[in-house]
Amino acid sequence: MAGKPRRLSVAFDIDDTIADIHDVVMRRVNRKLKGNYTFLETVTQLEQNGPLWKAYIREYEDLWTKKHKTIRLFLDKRLMKRVSKYYDIGFVSARGFNLKTTKGLKSWLRYHRLDHIKLDVTHTSDAKAELKYDIFVDDYPLKVKGKRMLLLIHREHNKAFVLPKNAMRFDNVNQAIHFLIKRATNEVNIK
Ligand SMILES: [Mg+2]
Repeated sequence: MAGKPRRLSVAFDIDDTIADIHDVVMRRVNRKLKGNYTFLETVTQLEQNGPLWKAYIREYEDLWTKKHKTIRLFLDKRLMKRVSKYYDIGFVSARGFNLKTTKGLKSWLRYHRLDHIKLDVTHTSDAKAELKYDIFVDDYPLKVKGKRMLLLIHREHNKAFVLPKNAMRFDNVNQAIHFLIKRATNEVNIK
């Protein structure tokens, strides 16, 4: 007789997965620099620590440390409660490169009464993908290995990413949650 399937764990990313960040910050950056830059152009400057990246970080820190209550929550909390019945849920963020904002993030989670959910902060996206979760819901195309899955949240900055076999694309986090609930209740079959 087949045993009960193991309860799977799901990691939800913060920035641009459950929190409306990049567009808000880019609007502020473009106002300051009088430009029309995209988030993708900004992250490509990350390595060389260019002026656009620096401007991004300034606005990003300002938002998380001083105005976190204005950051919109994309997540439907009722859906989150439902999905928690079927999976072990956690929040993950690779913002370890900028610990100043982690305090603001914790305040924001408390403000939205989501602070009872486990939070893991890593220093890189690669380290995030190594965390012990079965499924990752993320707007960043994480290199998720083995039998683990990536539910990629569609954003302008990841549209060119070609999905590997263990990944699926969703318009937003709530669609991904609907899929997870259907999957757990056997309404959809996945390998
Ligand atoms: Mg993100």
